[in-house]
Amino acid sequence: MKIVVFTGAGVSADSGICTFRGGNGLWDSYRIEDICTADAMLHNREEVIKFYNIRRKELLSVEPNAAHVAISKLEEHFRVQVITQNIDDLHERAGSSDITHLHGELRKLRSTKDEHLIYPIEGWQQDPTAHSKGDGALLRPFVVFFGEAVPMFEQAAEIVSTADLFIIVGTSLAVYPAASLVNYVRPWVQIYVVDPEVPNVSVPRNPIEYIQMKAAQGMPLLADKLIKEYAKK
Ligand code: NAD
Repeated sequence: MKIVVFTGAGVSADSGICTFRGGNGLWDSYRIEDICTADAMLHNREEVIKFYNIRRKELLSVEPNAAHVAISKLEEHFRVQVITQNIDDLHERAGSSDITHLHGELRKLRSTKDEHLIYPIEGWQQDPTAHSKGDGALLRPFVVFFGEAVPMFEQAAEIVSTADLFIIVGTSLAVYPAASLVNYVRPWVQIYVVDPEVPNVSVPRNPIEYIQMKAAQGMPLLADKLIKEYAKK
């Protein structure tokens, strides 16, 4: 059985990383258009780099939580593919082995000219004057800004379309096209949603069970239930 887990900022909230929306969300303190757009990268470069430096520094000081760990442990019983909207590396650090990052990775930089030239960054601080070794262009955070294409979308849609069971954790399903991935779940596949709120999952026919809990609490419970119900003895 193949389980596909689709995660958003909420899965990392219990590790101490702010979500974008909801109580204590980052957009209460910043304006999207000042930071997370290609235009901001061009005209507000210092602020954008500073914003992501702060996120990176914060990331280095936190650890995966029980939700990341429960998702990784599912691999002991099932084939598991994780698709995340998160740019943090907490799924990697918890041990998940098959992760698709839809919106990039905070611990990497890329050329401002060529999206395929990607480099890991040491520590948390991006040197704003550093250039890409590959093409000499200035570097920028390896994140997909609002309004930019999502290069991993097709690969993610393909993965979702082969899920036998689909789990959604900690996403408001407000950011597109990522949110539309649920439309690729086959109509008979059971969907579980772990989130203290109830995001609108717009699928016509799938059975959906809502686990209205924080990820670190709800995901381990769900993992235990799935192992009891479906894992081969
Ligand atoms: P979002 O901020 O729009 O929504 C967060 C969701 O998490 C909400 O549904 C909220 O109810 C839920 N939530 C809050 N606390 C939770 C908890 N403890 N356990 C479980 N769920 C909880 O986030 P999104 O849907 O992922 O979309 C926003 C975009 O923000 C994404 O594209 C992502 O790239 C980016 N983002 C990433 C990070 C990260 O990498 N950790 C952090 C903030 C934002």
